[in-house]
Amino acid sequence: MFAQEFVLKQRTEILHALCSSGSAEHLERVLDILLAQGELTWEDYQNIQVPGRPLFTNARQLLDLLYTKGLDSCGLFLAALKQVLPEAQETGLSLSGCSPNIKEKEAQSTSTTQMLLTQRPSLVSKLQSCINGALQALVVEGQFTSRDCDEVRRPIHTPSQQARCLLDHVSSKGDLAAKVLLNYIQQKQESGSPVNQKNLTPPKEFLKYQKKLSSSVSAQSCFLSTYGGTSHMSLDDIYTEGQLELAHKCTDLHTPLGLEDIVGTLGTVNKEADTVLVSGEAGSGKSTLLQRLHLLWAQGAALQDFLLLFPFSCRKLNSEHKELSVQELLFQHCCWPDREQEQIFQFILDHPHLILFTFDGLDELKQSFSDEHRLCCPTQHAPVHTLLFNLIQGSLMKGVQKVVTSRPEAVGPLLKKHLSKEVLLKGFSPSGIDCFVRKHHNDSTVAAKVLESLQTNTALLGLCHNPVLCWIVSQCHKELLGCGEGSPQTITDVYLMILQHFLQHKSLSKSTIGLGWLHENLKTVLHLGQLAFEGIGSTCYIFSGIELDACGVTEQDICIGFLIQIKDTSSAHYEFLHVTIQCFFAALYIVLSGNIDGPTIPKLFEMQDMRETGLSTSCFGACLPSTDQQKQDVVGEDTAAKTSDLQMIATFVSGLLSQRHRSLWLHCCPSAVMEKKARQVVRCLSKGMQKHFKSIPQPVEGEAKSMHAMPGFLWLIKCIYEMQESRIANNAMSKLEIDHLKLTYCNIGPVECTALSYVLQHLRTPVGLQLDNNSVGDVGVEQLLPCMHVCNSLHLRNNNITDEGIRKLIAKGIQCDNFRKIALFNNKLTDACTQQFSHLLKTRQDFLSLRLGNNNITAEGAKQLAEGLKFNHSLQYLGLWGNKIGDAGAEALASALEYSKSLVWLSLVGNGVGTAGACALAKIVKNSTSLEHLWLTENCITRAGVECLIQALQHNTHVKSIWYVSYTEPYTGKHKGCHCFSCDSNPTCSWWLFAF
Ligand code: ADP
Repeated sequence: MFAQEFVLKQRTEILHALCSSGSAEHLERVLDILLAQGELTWEDYQNIQVPGRPLFTNARQLLDLLYTKGLDSCGLFLAALKQVLPEAQETGLSLSGCSPNIKEKEAQSTSTTQMLLTQRPSLVSKLQSCINGALQALVVEGQFTSRDCDEVRRPIHTPSQQARCLLDHVSSKGDLAAKVLLNYIQQKQESGSPVNQKNLTPPKEFLKYQKKLSSSVSAQSCFLSTYGGTSHMSLDDIYTEGQLELAHKCTDLHTPLGLEDIVGTLGTVNKEADTVLVSGEAGSGKSTLLQRLHLLWAQGAALQDFLLLFPFSCRKLNSEHKELSVQELLFQHCCWPDREQEQIFQFILDHPHLILFTFDGLDELKQSFSDEHRLCCPTQHAPVHTLLFNLIQGSLMKGVQKVVTSRPEAVGPLLKKHLSKEVLLKGFSPSGIDCFVRKHHNDSTVAAKVLESLQTNTALLGLCHNPVLCWIVSQCHKELLGCGEGSPQTITDVYLMILQHFLQHKSLSKSTIGLGWLHENLKTVLHLGQLAFEGIGSTCYIFSGIELDACGVTEQDICIGFLIQIKDTSSAHYEFLHVTIQCFFAALYIVLSGNIDGPTIPKLFEMQDMRETGLSTSCFGACLPSTDQQKQDVVGEDTAAKTSDLQMIATFVSGLLSQRHRSLWLHCCPSAVMEKKARQVVRCLSKGMQKHFKSIPQPVEGEAKSMHAMPGFLWLIKCIYEMQESRIANNAMSKLEIDHLKLTYCNIGPVECTALSYVLQHLRTPVGLQLDNNSVGDVGVEQLLPCMHVCNSLHLRNNNITDEGIRKLIAKGIQCDNFRKIALFNNKLTDACTQQFSHLLKTRQDFLSLRLGNNNITAEGAKQLAEGLKFNHSLQYLGLWGNKIGDAGAEALASALEYSKSLVWLSLVGNGVGTAGACALAKIVKNSTSLEHLWLTENCITRAGVECLIQALQHNTHVKSIWYVSYTEPYTGKHKGCHCFSCDSNPTCSWWLFAF
């Protein structure tokens, strides 16, 4: 059949093969080839790829065009289709024999930009794994601005789309940019790949195994489990970039951390180790992130340095009770080789650096990490957790790269010792929330309404930084949009919303209106609740039919949708949609079940083993059927439910027992029992807080009384917030008497800010609140506003705050009498917020300290600040370290501060201040009656500037020190009362300390 006729006759099949996965990738790859071959012009391409138009329409447009172009075009198209479609996709479409193979076009190109087009398919594939590196190279060479980078890195794009966008951007910039890009790719190929795959010829059977493993990984990872049932959603379509950060500071990091950087060498702190930890709260997207990595590898779009990727789920490994060798672990749990097992395994052993293991949910493993039992022989049999721990430490199969995910609570110092680096997953950014909601809803007006409603409820917006909550909110958009004023405020509210949503949508009984919906489904809730509760008690997240039966879970209960069947187990096994949903049901069980005895709630809040509550039924203790002996072995080990699960259950119990939800339980449970349980919770919270308060050390005389939050403090605060009863918050806080509350490095995001602010409002006396090194962000700042009146100082160093957040913070701060100090070192502030500070300084004649170091303030910002400083008579500390105010900024500040009677400390370190600036600042030294310390290190002040400062010092008796370092021009003059200290390590560097 002629190609043209074939395209016409097989139109339906071709469209199906190109578009049925829902992902645009196949079509885009075909277009890449046609562009490269010169078969499509750029104009053709733009007519086909119309942004926002349905995929099928774009594909139809292509077919129409090719048909009109004629025989050759159709032939080439079929060849491209053959190259792009995996075999499985060709079902119903036989392409064999009807088309030639495609050869890369000879480089007859006249220009470098032209080469970007002719090599487009291979460039897209190469670039996907190194977008960040390529952007950096282009920025360094001055070819790209940060705006260009943002355009390319739009989170809504998949890596291959980002690669295409990058190529298009580079083409539009011209030959020079194209050269930079091609050089970068070539260098990366020559130096980067540890694989040297070109010289490597793996055995034939290995290659077959690789193919089989890759299709199995692809099949397992292409859909998200939360979108099972009716709402199938491919990962390619819904995946939204989460915020990744390195746990340790890394000076080489200039662009945001990307997915591929997780495995790369960037940020490595321990070169000996091969294990990377990705840690994040429940629901922050750890499993989804791994799933994305798996899929990209299987699609050939990333991690191509690894020939094999073995994905493991720790919750599934819990059910392996046999002792295994590593070989059995790999082949039985991931993919079985059809032939030559030994040969394949030997190849793996010989090339460990070509292999990647991922272990999802280390926190869900029954046993806590230990390195006691060492193992180094890959054929030796051992319990699975022993194998796993030895793989992580590298005593087994050293050199194999491992990525492990876990909630932070489960990561102890023992494990940290064996990590090459730790990457923190911090959920969605504000733009990530926007992007996720838009991807979730096909109907853009619905998406817009959901986003609008989130903007009006910032507590809920804060919760949506956690992807699982963002998913629930998107899933329950009808409930959300219908609830008006009473929209959810707490995590419990959000989970009640999904409970109601599932029960009302999938339950057979449709008569569930009003508050009766819970009562009508009480049995289901109790069945699922018991399953969840007993599961948590025995660290069990996967349930067999026997366990479902033991808790009375019926087919109908399963149909509601909270339990999903696990596909790759031989008999039917189920898990909850997410661990947080299991915890929620466990909490519902504690609240609603008549079987719960007196000590359960106190034990829960004290984080004791739930098995001691006398509730365990006969069949729990091991998740999947096993022999009695094996069950006993497991019980002997650390099977206590993990702290993070118990904390989450306790948080939900607090929320469910709050006064505002009592009406829900009417007819479900005697109100006297409810009252009693609620009283127990209140008592536990109050006792817990007391324990923290007692741990506060007595202050040294003359110093402020300070409390550094211990682990568990924030969790108690969150429980109090869930209760939403100011009486309880008031009661808890009235006994706290401190001057300073330190919550640095506590992983505080917007959700924690909401709870903290709610509780701190009830403090009797004002405190200094130190929240440095968290992830507060603009949404978090907004959440803190209600407690500003009890903050006399607010430290928010390194918290990702922008001008937008500061605008709101200062507007509120101006009205709060106690608020006198703010520290905002290392955020994202620019000149756009300096007017606010200027207004603050003008308005508040009791403001003491303003520290804005390491932001992006230039001379313009400094001039704005100077406007405020002219009218201020109280500021004592002004810190602008690491900005860019230059001479002009220094001159403006100097003229505003020249006669200051309040300023004691001024830092302009690292601001590009030159001699003119120094001479201007000398006026403050000369005339101010209060200045004691002036920091001018890391500027470019020459001898003339120093002379000016020294001259000024002759007239001043207040100044105690001026710090100035010159690397180029050591000052040799001698002056009265001036001491010069030389720096031992660098003889050309002199430290100058003028002390009087
Ligand atoms: P964790 O493993 O940290 O508990 P999950 O990866 O299971 O979190 O995420 C829970 C749910 O949140 C997912 O099932 C999905 O619906 C949503 N989700 C998480 N991360 C993403 C992401 N990057 N893009 C889209 N949805 C996500």
